[in-house]
Amino acid sequence: MFETLSDRLTSVFSSLRSKGRLSEADINATAREIRIALLEADVALPVVKDFIAHVKERALGAEVSQALNPAQQVVKIVNEELIEILGGETRRLRFAKTPPTVIMLAGLQGAGKTTLAGKLAYWLKGQGHTPLLVAADLQRPNAVQQLQVMGERAGVPVFAPEPGNGVGDPVQVARRSVEEARRAQHDVVIIDTAGRLGVDAEMMQQAIDIRDAVSPDEILFVVDAMVGQDAVNTAQAFMDGVGFDGVVLTKLDGDARGGAALSVRHITGRPIMFASTGEKLEDFDLFHPDRMAGRILD
Ligand code: GDP
Repeated sequence: MFETLSDRLTSVFSSLRSKGRLSEADINATAREIRIALLEADVALPVVKDFIAHVKERALGAEVSQALNPAQQVVKIVNEELIEILGGETRRLRFAKTPPTVIMLAGLQGAGKTTLAGKLAYWLKGQGHTPLLVAADLQRPNAVQQLQVMGERAGVPVFAPEPGNGVGDPVQVARRSVEEARRAQHDVVIIDTAGRLGVDAEMMQQAIDIRDAVSPDEILFVVDAMVGQDAVNTAQAFMDGVGFDGVVLTKLDGDARGGAALSVRHITGRPIMFASTGEKLEDFDLFHPDRMAGRILD
């Protein structure tokens, strides 16, 4: 995860290690190199610009510290700015005062929504919740069955359309699932919705219709971290369309660069809430900006 960026930054910092103090020229040169590292990591340009401006301003104004040498000071500043750009605090799920809490997943096909639905359900179950998974992705032929497999693995029931039970209508399925959750006392409902290969008006309208039918407590935008800056464009389209409360980054295990992770918060104004790091149910956790920054600078 983020190996390329990590390696680049390590080499930038090691070139500072021999310096007794940093001149303005040193700081400018370092800022330039960090800029290149971030651009190579596919971080969105406005994010890179802000990041570099902050680092430069703080490095130039840095007080002479007894405890840290100049290289360590730059590392400290970059670490703090990385945490900031990744969202600062960990954003936790907000549960409804009156159950069930309704969580709706949105995102493109292949982003990892169905897998994520199972992981989230498993994670919630591990915390003592009683989730219900909902198969409202009726676009992709295998999606319902795939969710049922995930549900079985997670040990979580799946609400899926049955003949005469609103077949083919994801809005009906979503609405009924919330009624079912109330009846069977599931405290969280996780609704998997249909995606397409690209942003498309019909898909967005369907997501909006589901949203309006069930008024989710949290809408999570699920995006494949490996697509880099494209994730930002997709995020923007979903923000303008259905809107969302938080981001889930999937496939972080295959993301050597980190561009999506470092851009999406800044561009959409919404926090990254969860990270998915593999195909196993357990490869999933809350997103911790400080730990992620630590990994990058490791
Ligand atoms: P959906 O179309 O959004 O529902 O996406 P899927 O859940 O079907 O996921 C698409 C593919 O990505 C599947 O082959 C998953 O096994 C895989 N996948 C999902 N999440 C991760 C992850 O965090 N890491 C890796 N390596 N693969 C993942």
